[in-house]
Amino acid sequence: MRPASDSRAAVRAKAARARRAQPAWADRPYARRAAVIGRFAALMRRDAERSARLLSAETGKPIAQARNEVNALQGRLEFFLARTGPLLEPAFARDAAGTKEEVRQEPLGVVLNISAWNYPYFVGSNVFVPALLTGNAVLYKPSEFAARTGANIKRLMDEAGVPAGVFELLRGDGRVGAWALEEPVDGVFFTGSNATGRKVAAAAAGRLVKCQLELGGKDPVYVAPDADPAKAAPAVADGAFYNAGQSCCAVERVYVHEKVYDRFLEAFLAAVRGFKVGDPADPDTYLGPLTRAAQIPVLEAQVKDAVRKGARLLLGGRRIPRPGNWFAPTVLDRCTHAMTLMREESFGPVIGLMKVRSDEEAVRLMNDTAYGLTAGVYSKSRARAEAVLSRVDAGSAYWNCCDRVSPYLPWSGRRGSGVGLTLSEDGIRTFLKPKAWHLRSP
Ligand code: NAP
Repeated sequence: MRPASDSRAAVRAKAARARRAQPAWADRPYARRAAVIGRFAALMRRDAERSARLLSAETGKPIAQARNEVNALQGRLEFFLARTGPLLEPAFARDAAGTKEEVRQEPLGVVLNISAWNYPYFVGSNVFVPALLTGNAVLYKPSEFAARTGANIKRLMDEAGVPAGVFELLRGDGRVGAWALEEPVDGVFFTGSNATGRKVAAAAAGRLVKCQLELGGKDPVYVAPDADPAKAAPAVADGAFYNAGQSCCAVERVYVHEKVYDRFLEAFLAAVRGFKVGDPADPDTYLGPLTRAAQIPVLEAQVKDAVRKGARLLLGGRRIPRPGNWFAPTVLDRCTHAMTLMREESFGPVIGLMKVRSDEEAVRLMNDTAYGLTAGVYSKSRARAEAVLSRVDAGSAYWNCCDRVSPYLPWSGRRGSGVGLTLSEDGIRTFLKPKAWHLRSP
């Protein structure tokens, strides 16, 4: 059962509590804030199995993938704990004829984090952990589809010793998110769809506060003529179908050079046929049900549109007849950019393939969507991959890999994929306001 939803008044009261609690949290020495997050990391380790099972039961994510997410969270927490302290130190700029110039950092204040359900531990912690470490209070609004996981995070934060008011959980659906946007927050950090992101940006614009948006993608991979199709195909299939394709950086379209097309297609289909579809609680399951029922008609419409316009349906293409939101792993080829499948986010276990004749054609097609989150090239030649990827307008570039996020690198989307960034040291600084000090002795 989902937790009860907050009322309008409860949202207001939580925002006011966060406002009152934030200054004392920011005044704490950094080491004491870091100690709390260190305890949170230890509690996440203690409750890893329970948290993974809850995530799997709540979202349908296969248990092996839920465990991966919960366990990999540790690496992100270690990164933030290791890198935040030095960024808070005052930085001497210069001595200008007796005037000392220095930069000091201050937290934004109260930040609102509206989050998605697909990787609640990752996308949430990318925001609330550096926000807390840098001295902000956080209003955390998980998705209604990951509400129990959101409550689990809140439980562990409380147990770790985050003071009352510093990390407030907002419970409920998009309406609660919209109410929170009416509160006087100092920053808005949103992860979710392009359509909701636009609404959030419009609401934040009226308040003149910082607003970061991490939105969807239509991430392409290009398999160059010198790639090894036997190696590339299973890796690309995993990038497309992991978490049933419900990853912001899932591979959503594949361009394969005609020289290796047939061999790639054969190996790709073999890889997809090998995915075990079934009960998410089974540790051998690779593909479970979708989290949201509403995505199924979107996938059906994309498949229908593609087939009508000449695509060849090679695998799947329909619901799996069992209770829940099941959609069969689906592969189409002979796709074109006249099809919604190749230009609009699928966010499900559906992939379109297209044959190309040159690197130039691949670059043109890779750029031909409204999105710009990630892009990958499989090739023996790093120079070739770099030449292609430097011309693709995306926030992350992959050579012989895909569907990958590192806390040490900035995570950012371009154009329809978002504004701003998380992760890396820049993704910590984003929760800080620099103040310029001009200091002259009397
Ligand atoms: P969504 O429907 O846009 O929801 C995102 C969050 O916004 C949820 O917490 C949602 O609440 C809330 N919300 C809905 N309407 C709102 C409103 N009017 N005002 C304020 N908040 C509102 O997206 P989703 O289905 O959860 O997530 C899938 C999307 O997120 C995909 O497009 C995916 O690519 C993208 N994503 C991007 C990244 C990235 O790093 N770039 C990472 C993960 C996911 P409820 O869910 O409770 O309704």
